[in-house]
Formats: sequence, structure tokens, C-alpha cells
Amino acid sequence: MTTECIVNKMIFVIIKKFTKFFKSLGSVVELVDAPHSKCGTFGYVGSSPTAPTLMNTYSRFDITFKKGKGCWLWDKAGKKYLDAVAGIATCSLGHSDRVLRRRLSIQLKKIQHISNLYNIEEQEQLGRTLTNISCAESVFFCNSGAEANESAIKLIKKYGNINNPGKDSIILAAESSFHGRTLAALSATGQPKYQEGFQPMIKGFKFFKFNNFDSVKKLFEECENNDQKISGVLVEPIQGEGGVIPGSAIFFKSLREICNKYNALLIFDEVQSGVGRTGKMWGYENLGIEPDGFTLAKGLGGGHAIGALLVKEKANIFSPGDHASTFGGNPFACKAALTVLEEIKKRNLLNNVYLRGQQLSEGFEKLSKKFPNIIRGKRGLGLIQGLVINDDYTDAKKITIKAFDKGLLLVPAGGNVIRIVPPLIISRREINTLLNKLNSIFEEI
Ligand code: PLP
Repeated sequence: MTTECIVNKMIFVIIKKFTKFFKSLGSVVELVDAPHSKCGTFGYVGSSPTAPTLMNTYSRFDITFKKGKGCWLWDKAGKKYLDAVAGIATCSLGHSDRVLRRRLSIQLKKIQHISNLYNIEEQEQLGRTLTNISCAESVFFCNSGAEANESAIKLIKKYGNINNPGKDSIILAAESSFHGRTLAALSATGQPKYQEGFQPMIKGFKFFKFNNFDSVKKLFEECENNDQKISGVLVEPIQGEGGVIPGSAIFFKSLREICNKYNALLIFDEVQSGVGRTGKMWGYENLGIEPDGFTLAKGLGGGHAIGALLVKEKANIFSPGDHASTFGGNPFACKAALTVLEEIKKRNLLNNVYLRGQQLSEGFEKLSKKFPNIIRGKRGLGLIQGLVINDDYTDAKKITIKAFDKGLLLVPAGGNVIRIVPPLIISRREINTLLNKLNSIFEEI
């Protein structure tokens, strides 16, 4: 047998072994889909909400989507749904946007993640863009809303320690607020139901009534009298999860003044309200004042994970080593955010949000008149609007479930509110479809 023959035979044997190995991998996949080995129940991977492989953190609606385009999603059976949720106020450009797809494909081929050990061009570019179009001067990037707020809380604490060393540093937050699920963000969240089971919370947070300046003033005075120092206020310009409650301009003007007087940082949580959602680029633009800093996430990446803390010079006090995030501001996430911001401008989406918001609000007015026993009221700005449901009659979750039959996706918020937060690209026709679907749901309830 020649050497060539021997080599060929060896190659053949190797290929055969590889084929056998890959086939055996196939049976591993099958095994994973077999009855769950630990509890004996059937647990098919990906069959949420019952899949035992997933921790029991969500009470999911039992529906699985296969594809999305614009403001529409299709489930496994091919049924089409109008999406008034947008991944919870996240998919700013809708689903499977052509431009975002193209830009991210190119980015994936170029570079995806390198860490903050090195310069990241896309991050610097995004930082420049964000500071050019907002009141902020510097940005820290992370991956989510809770993480952005965690950064803001650390920043306020550091500000307090610099300016009032040795004093008890207090952070004010609002009742019915929502700032996320990490322990500090949860401690700042003014809704005890989210904190249950996780006590004790982090010390140093005090809560005021949203839109009630007297309750803020009282806390500042109380702290002064007790030799405590309020280092900052963390507040949403429009409460989302708490029930879609817009901030009042008078309240926020007084809040700005008292923070100036006592040298406390005023930081806005714009995780839900930022990036065009209210019809202005930033929620604070609806209030006639500027914060010292604000946090972003949700809509910034158009469905891709990115969070940010943006600050004015006064609050730009982090030094190397104070704070970090391995994934924060990686080239891929930054390219997604850059594309979202560019497309908002190119497609004049702020104007669309304003007009569609007006249309939605007028439609809600009509629905409220037609169904006074079901609807208690409406509130919101731009494309973050809420219908307040009469709890003597029904609840927002039941309406959300009923909406599935009608091919409409809704998300409830606190205070028995149906929250409408569709993609910013939603058209006049789609808003009409949404209102018609709501009308037929209310007719059948
Ligand atoms: N802040 C606000 C105002 C939010 O609405 C949310 C999420 O709903 C968060 C923070 C938390 O964001 P994430 O879920 O990305 O951590």
C-alpha cells in the first residue's frame, strides 16, 4: 500500500469518526427535549412558560412569536398581532427594521465586543451624538435600565460624600416610581410590592409623593433638622410602570429650585421616557427644566441591550475605578443606538410621535365617552399613553388577555392602566386599527 493510499484511508476514517460524533450530538439535542430528568415532567427547551429549565421569574402569557415586521408580530400559528408594547417601550424602529438590520450585520462582520480596556470608536461617536442633542456633557454606558440607575445612585452617593463628608447621605425618590430590579434600583423604587421578600432594602432612600412639592419640601426640612444631607433626587419625568403619570411642570420647577438651594443632584430616570417616546427627544423637555443628569436604556438600542448615564459637568465626578461594566458600550450595542438616533432624525419620528400621540389621545377621548363604565380616564404624552380602567368593572390584565383574540398586544401598568407604547414608527392607519381593536374589545366585555 502506497503512502498516498494510507493517508487517504486515514482521512476517510477521521471523517467517519467526525460524522459519528456529530450524529451523537444530534441525539444529545433529542435528550434535552426528553422528559425532564429531575422532576419527571415534560420540559421542552424553549416551551416557556412551563419550561422547568427557566427560573420561575416571569408569569408569561402563553404565546410564542416567530417573526416581526414594523409594528406587527406573528405567532407560531401564523396569527398576526398589532404590537402596542414594542418589547416594553423598546423597539423604537419596530421589528426587523431594514436599516438597523443592515447596519448591525455590517457591524457584526467588523467588530462586536472588545471591553473597556481599549478605546471604542462607536462608543465615542455615540457619546458625542448624545451630548450634542441633550443637556448632558459626558456619558457612561452600561446594558440596562436598572444598571443605568445603579450608576446614578452611586454617582449621587459619591456627590454626597464629596460635598458633605461624614454626614448621612439621603436620596429622594417618588412614590409609585419604578427604577429597576437590582438591589439599589429596587431600594429607590417607591412601590413596596416589588420589595417584598427582599428586605432589608439599601438604607438612605426617602420617598415623596409624585407631583406634590409640599412632600418634597417637608423631607428636605426634616433632613436638615436631623443633620442628614439630601445628596440627590432620582425621579421619572413621566412615571411609566407606576401608571403612566406625566410630571407637572410646576412641580418639577420647584423640585429644580430646591435641589439648587440644597446642592442636591437632580437625576431623571428617562429609561422609559427618553429617546423620543414622549414626542420630544427627552422627557425633561416637556417640563421646562433640565436635570443634572439622566439615565437611558429601553428605546436607545431599538431592541438591543444598552443603558446609559448622562451627566452635566457638575455631576461628572466618577474617576477610573469608581464604576465599570464589561459589556457596557460595546461596538455592537453602540452601533444599534447610533442607528436608532440617526433614523429618528432622518425619518422625522419626533413629529410622528407627536401626531400619532394626538390621534391616540383623541381616540381615547371617544372611547372614554362611549364606555364610561369601563374607562375612568386617559393620560400620557406622545406614544406613552394610558387608559385608566375602572376596577369596579374589570382589570387591565383581563383586557390584555382579551386583546390577544383580537390580534392586539397590550401591556398593563400600575393603577389598573393599559399602557400603550408602540414603536415610534407607527402609522396613522395602524393607530386607527389599534383604536378599532380596543373598541371591539370594550364592546365584548
Ligand atoms: N426605569 C424605568 C423608568 C423603567 O420603566 C424600567 C423598566 O421598566 C427600568 C428603570 C428598569 O429597566 P431594565 O428592565 O432595563 O433594567
